[in-house]
Order: sequence, then structure tokens, then C-alpha cells
Amino acid sequence: MSAHLSEEQRMMRDSCRAFVDDVIIPFVRKNWKNEWLMTPEVRLPPEILEGAERIGIRTLGVPEAFGGLELDPKTEVQTFALISEEIARGDSGLADKLVQNWKVSVLLRNVAPKHLQEKWFKRLVAEPQFLLAHCLTEPRGASDRWLPYNVPEAAMQTRAVKDDKGWVINGRKQFISNGYDASLYVVYANTNPKVGMLQGTSSFLVPRDTPGLTVARCNETLGCRYMNNGELVFEDMRVPDDHLLAEGDALGQAGIYFRPGKIIQASKNLGVGVRAFEVASEYVQNYVQGGRILLKHQAVALRIADMATRVAAVRALLESAARSVDENSADAEVLCNMVKLFASEEIMKVAQHAVELHGGNGMMLDFGVEKLFRDAAIFLHMDATTDISRLKIVKSMFPQTAGKYAGPE
Ligand SMILES: Cc1cc2nc3c(=O)[nH]c(=O)nc-3n(C[C@H](O)[C@H](O)[C@H](O)COP(=O)(O)OP(=O)(O)OC[C@H]3O[C@@H](n4cnc5c(N)ncnc54)[C@H](O)[C@@H]3O)c2cc1C
Repeated sequence: MSAHLSEEQRMMRDSCRAFVDDVIIPFVRKNWKNEWLMTPEVRLPPEILEGAERIGIRTLGVPEAFGGLELDPKTEVQTFALISEEIARGDSGLADKLVQNWKVSVLLRNVAPKHLQEKWFKRLVAEPQFLLAHCLTEPRGASDRWLPYNVPEAAMQTRAVKDDKGWVINGRKQFISNGYDASLYVVYANTNPKVGMLQGTSSFLVPRDTPGLTVARCNETLGCRYMNNGELVFEDMRVPDDHLLAEGDALGQAGIYFRPGKIIQASKNLGVGVRAFEVASEYVQNYVQGGRILLKHQAVALRIADMATRVAAVRALLESAARSVDENSADAEVLCNMVKLFASEEIMKVAQHAVELHGGNGMMLDFGVEKLFRDAAIFLHMDATTDISRLKIVKSMFPQTAGKYAGPE
């Protein structure tokens, strides 16, 4: 990839790599117990986000006019991919924390009124701990939204009703990345129960201190534990008229974020795979059994070759998918779903090899390899499950003849 990088991309990649090697990996190794602290606020010290701020990666996607660092729009998604891979190599939870800011900023710069962009982007830029979150998923499930199953009975259960003073929102959101920590949320709610979710879903800007909003809990997740995933409850929560971002077709408008989102998912996933490969290769070249280093045992060598091949294949597909999203090519939709799916399954296998090659050490929390296995597992579920991603691929390839994959039997 290096040969194709612009000067801007090369500089960003190198500063992220140095940040990860000098700060993140040593922090994660030394403080491995922090992941398991049941007070989520103290898991990741504020200096980590301040460090991300110093190298300019916390506010990507924010327009320059509001103090952000604007990337070259021709290669923005490819640059997002490059940086999120590097950060996830250090910790995928931290990468997740940061990429929510980028993804929601991309959405807000396209759909939020200018005066609200000015207000909130300026705060985001000024406050190093400021995080954004995107709230779609509800307890009744998210797959119907990804496919989507566009009938009134599958509509979002979070409801927003208009009155003469603005909007009143009631409902619940679950599994939200940054949900526990964010200062500003984009919330999706049904505004027309008579139609399907593609026509009846609206989005709203909701500051954390809005009366009626409760951050109900931090979910204790298997992996990505440095990103505090949360649940939100809305009880007669009022937002003013100008906080309505998109009316009716909010899911369509969120499309601006969905494709880059899949690329970023795959690239974070790749970062986990690269780290798993790095630690396994180091181990097998130093640890001795049967009178020789592990790498000199053929069975081990085969696994290392397998890991390297899977990582290279994910990278190759990622590069072409990211490019097609940047270029808005006809195959962008199918490729971004393919790479998200492919990365999740391939890197899971890479992480499995890594823990197995470490023997018992691979199962020990203080050794740190099992963390990569846990982090890899999360990618099978985020931004649509593997099965839903497969169905989306088929729907993109055969729009006329593919099944609906939903509806009464
Ligand atoms: C760590 C993490 C972070 C997340 N962050 C966010 C976030 O920031 N914002 C947000 O809104 N959401 C977020 N999510 C939610 C995520 O998008 C959903 O978990 C995911 O899309 C799956 O939805 P679900 O959990 O409701 O599963 P369900 O939709 O309940 O699916 C359950 C099972 O049924 C299968 N299934 C469902 N429908 C069909 C069908 N029609 N055909 C075949 N099989 C089907 C699925 O593949 C799955 O195996 C996050 C989730 C995780 C785990």
C-alpha cells in the first residue's frame, strides 16, 4: 500500500503508528486489568484521547471552517481506513471510540443545519473528551433495518411526535458505541407508523443533558472493552424543531455514512489481525519446544503462512473496496459489504491461530493474546451480522431476482 500513499496519508499513518507503538500498546500491556474495571469511566485515562487529539485524529470529518482537519475528499475513506487500522492495531476499542466521531461528523456536516454544526463542531474540537454516538439499534433487533424489512410492523419502536413546541421522543436504544460516554447523539425514531421504516424514520440531534434522556447502562462486552457501549432510554424527551436532521428518509440519508462505516469496520478488524500476526510471529521465533524454535516445526510454519495470507487477502480487498467507495463506483455497495464480511471471518481465524500458537499462555488474561481473539469476535456482529452481510451482497448483485429474506412465511 505504501507506494500509493499521498504525503498526507503517509504522515498520518506514521504518526498513528508511533502513537500506537509508544503509547497505546505499552498502556494496554501494562494495564491489562483496566479492561475489567467495572467502573467504565476509569478504564481509559483521559490522556489517551488527549494523545489522539495531539496527532489530529479525534476530529476527522469535521469541516475546516469549524476547526476540524479535513482530508482530501477524493481519498477520504481510504485515509479513514489507513488510520483506523493503525489505531486498532493498538486497541480496537480506542479505534471504535474515535471512528464514531468521524462517522457521525460526516453525517452531521451533510444533514445538520449550519448553526448547529457551528455550535457542536466547535465544542467537539475544543473538548478532547467529547464523543459522538449514532443510535439506531433497539431491543427488537437491528437486522430488519440492515436488509431492510420495510413494512410498518417492523418500524422503529422509538417514536417522535410533533407538537407546537417541537418533538417529544419516547423509546429505547441498545448496543450503542460510545453510548455510555458521548456528549451528543444522533437518534433515529419513527415519525409515521403507517409506512415502512424507509419512509417513516427521522433523525434528531440530542445533547446528552436533554431532560428525559437517561444513559441506562454501560454494556459489559466480550471485546472492544475500551469503547463504552451503552443503552439509552428516552422518556418524554423534548427536542426543538431545528434538531430534526432528516424527516422520513433518515435511513436513506444515513447512507452517506453506511458505506464508509463498513470500510472502517473492516480496517479496524484488519488492525486486530495485523497485531495478532505480529505477536504470533515474535513468539514462534523465540519460544522453543522439541529442541527448536516453534517456527521450525512445520505445523507451526503452516499456520504462520496461513495467517499472513489471510491478512494480505483482507488488505487487498479492503484497498479496492475503500477506493470504490471514495470513487462512488457501481460496485461500491457490494464491495463494502464483502470486505466487512470477509475481514470478520478471516481475522477471526488469524486470531484463533494466534491464541493456539501461544499454548496455555494464549488463554491467560495477563499475556494479552486472548484480548485479540475477543476483539476479533466483536466484528462478526457490528454493523450487521455475517449472515445479513451475505444477504446484502446477494441483493446488490441480483437486485431483480434475489429473495426478500423477510416477511411472513
Ligand atoms: C459492539 C457493538 C457495537 C454496536 N454499535 C452500534 C451503534 O453504535 N449504533 C447502533 O445503532 N447499533 C450498534 N450495534 C448494533 C449492531 O448493529 C447489531 O447488533 C447488529 O446489526 C445485529 O443486530 P441484532 O443484535 O439486533 O441481531 P438480530 O437482528 O436480532 O439478529 C439475530 C440473529 O438473527 C439473524 N437474522 C435476523 N434477521 C434475519 C433474516 N431476515 N434472515 C436471516 N437471518 C436473520 C441474524 O443474522 C442473527 O444471527 C452494535 C453492536 C455491537 C455488538
